Amino acid sequence: MMNTQLTFPLMIQHTEKFFPKKQIISRTQKRTQTLTYDEYVRRTRSLASVLDRLGVEKGDRVGTIAWNHHRHLEAYFAIPSIGAILHTINLRLSREHLIHIINHAEDKVLLIDVDLLPLIEGIKDEIKTVEAFIVMTDDEELPYSGLAPLYSYEELLANGDESFSFREDLSEDDPAGLCYTSATTGKPKGVLYSHRGLYLHSIALALADTAGLSEQDVTMPVVPMFHANAWGIPFAATWLGSTQVLPGPAPTPQILAELIEEHKVTITAGVPTIWLGLLKELESGKYNLNSLRAVLCGGSAAPKGMIRTFEETHGIPFIHAYGMTETSPIVTAANLKSYQGDLPYEEKLELRSTQGRVVPGLEIKVINDQGEAKADGKDMGELLVRGPWIADSYYKDERSKDVFVDGWLHTGDVVTIDEEGYVKIVDRTKDLIKSGGEWISSVDLENALMAHPSVFEAAVVSVPHPKWQERPVACVVLKDADKGRVTKDDLLEFLEPQFAKWWLPDEVIFMEEIPKTSVGKFLKMALREQVRKELAL
Ligand code: ADP
Repeated sequence: MMNTQLTFPLMIQHTEKFFPKKQIISRTQKRTQTLTYDEYVRRTRSLASVLDRLGVEKGDRVGTIAWNHHRHLEAYFAIPSIGAILHTINLRLSREHLIHIINHAEDKVLLIDVDLLPLIEGIKDEIKTVEAFIVMTDDEELPYSGLAPLYSYEELLANGDESFSFREDLSEDDPAGLCYTSATTGKPKGVLYSHRGLYLHSIALALADTAGLSEQDVTMPVVPMFHANAWGIPFAATWLGSTQVLPGPAPTPQILAELIEEHKVTITAGVPTIWLGLLKELESGKYNLNSLRAVLCGGSAAPKGMIRTFEETHGIPFIHAYGMTETSPIVTAANLKSYQGDLPYEEKLELRSTQGRVVPGLEIKVINDQGEAKADGKDMGELLVRGPWIADSYYKDERSKDVFVDGWLHTGDVVTIDEEGYVKIVDRTKDLIKSGGEWISSVDLENALMAHPSVFEAAVVSVPHPKWQERPVACVVLKDADKGRVTKDDLLEFLEPQFAKWWLPDEVIFMEEIPKTSVGKFLKMALREQVRKELAL
């Protein structure tokens, strides 16, 4: 067979040739605009020429600090297509982490959304390697800024070369992207993606048994383009010629519902927090979202109750998937096998609320002290993954050796696997609760609590205990209408029939909000501290 190198220029040139009329709908600071792919690719070539002129060379890192919109999507293809590395920076990182990752990546150029300029202005004296700052804005004038040299994205593009050639000498093993994990402990770790990895991952997203992305779709990633590349959806959608809706700066549930309705979005993706917000918005009964063929959900466990509400109340199909920044990210997706189609709804829901089956192309195994865990849906162990879109190390980071061992990525996720291959996450290794020598899964308790009709969100953490070492405590946010009405005893009574007695939380603390990470996951470390303080432990 031909040894075709699987690179970004191949993907974008396919789009250019075959989908010039298809559209990208992009919400930016001031407006929502529509571009054709023809315009998009011309602008992408122009951006490539501009970066080339600014001295960006093969292997250089170009950072982006931006929301989901067309300019960011232009960077997504322009940067790798000239052999440079697209470094998507999480705009919600702390100041200290921002400084760390920009210096660690040694970014040469930064592309920054105008509303995010203050983030970079605040650290300008500490970032050493950046030679040019490019501001992405709808305005003609740039705001006053202490950053220099400072350029206007649109002005540069207007003077760029729309027929600039992408590189033809790239190897599929060349790096194309760089993303840092959001790090709940320690400094963020960098993951370098190769052209080959992202190319193959895009194909994986197009498989009918994963997300089945195709030209027919109208995609809307709500997951930010700085969180594991919006799970790779923009790469695949552009290549396949899907219509894309990019929801822009800080989209509210109302904005999301309106965009889905107006543009007939067929598939959207995000973390559970986003979907809880959308469900609240849908209670108004104002929207018709029946264009949706799938809400793709990952990043944290999707509570079963939430999947049920989407499907039963709103008729919106749901796909639960699992992955990590280190895995590009898709590893598993919870779709049913053909012969499971006739199972009763509850059994189907049970399977579909697991993290799902491994995507073709990857290998997984589950290991514990006894060796490989039994595939019985009960035996627990750590999930290991390997395959062509799984990182083999962290970028210039000594911590690699603890995570990448003997050719496998150790995910740090404790799971069970059943005989049909469905993987269920029990917990992160560090979040498991060990009570009297036995494990309690915080995720199972959270899921059960979130199925209570009055509960908006719930997180369960461990607290130290003199006799049992650790005990679970539940932190619960009630729905507005039920605040002050539902008690600890009500919730424990609700859990009682579902769990062994020793699993039940010792305390239920009602809160206004549960602290979250920069990508919307429960911040268990902070929560543990808060709970321990509150209970004076
Ligand atoms: P971070 O940057 O926060 O580490 P990642 O998205 O890389 O972000 O986090 C990966 C982790 O998120 C996984 O190891 C797992 O613990 C958790 N995770 C991802 N998807 C799911 C899911 N569907 N259910 C439960 N946990 C998930």
